[in-house]
Amino acid sequence: MAALSPVRGTKDLIFDDARRMRRVADTGRAVAALYGYDEIATPVFEFTNVFARTLGDTSDIVTKEMYTFEDKGGDSLTLRPEGTAGIARAFISNGLTQDLPLRVFYQGPMFRYERPQKGRMRQFHQIGVEVLGIAQPQADIEVIALGAQILAELGLGDRVQLEINTLGDTASRAAYRDTLVAYLSGHKDGLSEDSLARLDRNPMRILDSKDEGDKAVVAGAPVMSDSMNDESRAFFDTVLEGLTALDIPFVLNPKLVRGLDYYGHTAFEFTTTDLGAQGTVMAGGRYDGLIKQMGGPPTPGVGWAAGIERLSMMAGEGTPLPRPVAVIPVGADNQALGLRLAHDLRRAGIAADLAHSGNLGKRMKRANKVGARAAVIIGDDERARGVATLRDMDSGEQSDVPLDGLVETLKAAP
Ligand code: ATP
Ligand code: MG
Repeated sequence: MAALSPVRGTKDLIFDDARRMRRVADTGRAVAALYGYDEIATPVFEFTNVFARTLGDTSDIVTKEMYTFEDKGGDSLTLRPEGTAGIARAFISNGLTQDLPLRVFYQGPMFRYERPQKGRMRQFHQIGVEVLGIAQPQADIEVIALGAQILAELGLGDRVQLEINTLGDTASRAAYRDTLVAYLSGHKDGLSEDSLARLDRNPMRILDSKDEGDKAVVAGAPVMSDSMNDESRAFFDTVLEGLTALDIPFVLNPKLVRGLDYYGHTAFEFTTTDLGAQGTVMAGGRYDGLIKQMGGPPTPGVGWAAGIERLSMMAGEGTPLPRPVAVIPVGADNQALGLRLAHDLRRAGIAADLAHSGNLGKRMKRANKVGARAAVIIGDDERARGVATLRDMDSGEQSDVPLDGLVETLKAAP
């Protein structure tokens, strides 16, 4: 352990990195607001049970990836690996069960102990949305449309693809599970260790395996759609018709399953080929069984989560800092005036840069370096005339502006 390096899988987000990430979160929040989603921020740690009970004890997250520790009071706590379980817990603990339907946006850090690589961190960040209390497929359409709009506003509309599948209702899933286990049991020789271990407890996850041997077996497996009952099929058809009506393109992916046990009906992912192996940028689906499983009243839910790092890697430029006005007092007598002017500009909502020392030449250099849009120069001569020299840093044009109208002038300038 090198004492002064960040922990493996974590990253300092310095300036541009932080602004890129913030742009993704801000865009997500703003678009979600257009759909009436309000923000919920839950704690970054919860009692371990909140995740262990909801994510299912066979999921990768619970078996391998959780940061779990005992606190000084002897409670087992876990750093949240994802957002839905905490929202569901908050929904029950705060008595929000009376306020259905609920539309929620969240964002923040998540923690998973996994092998760090491009697009895969141990501390990463997600934006996400949840709709609680709507059992109809219209909510599925809504959250997908919302996700697609966020991606479009980030400029990624053409670089991602929506893949979608249905896991059906409980009965359909049980029927499919039997068919699948029967098939996989006949091909045990081809399956990886991991998949053999999943065969009894979570066979549908095998469809999602990245192991080459597994993939070959899975290629010949029966598909979920053959086991769907009419109700499940109608639900899915409505979702697809809705997407078509909204001009949201999709591809059917019968092998798409979610890693978490509480999903049913719609499952979807927005994927890209631009990020190498870590191609899923947004993933979600319907989880009608979750709230009840946590001890709340049966409450349908649907939502998605998106990795902010992966999106910001694709989306490029972050929200830039505003270009400041450089305030340049020349000579000892004008320092106080410079300080006051910078203060007034900032209070009027105009970014101002004020170096704390240096002559005119040095300060002009700094004005260039910070990308100032204008410089306001106040020397003895200017002060005697009650003006400042205003220099447009892009065109180089200069003019005298009365000191008492300076804030207004700069406010009006672009
Ligand atoms: P993967 O197959 O990549 O491990 P997952 O199924 O574990 O994904 P989800 O739990 O669905 O992922 O999380 C939703 C999104 O969060 C992912 O699509 C991805 O964009 C992002 N994400 C998940 N894990 C990480 C991580 N360790 N580092 C960075 N982003 C992540
Ligand atoms: Mg994962």
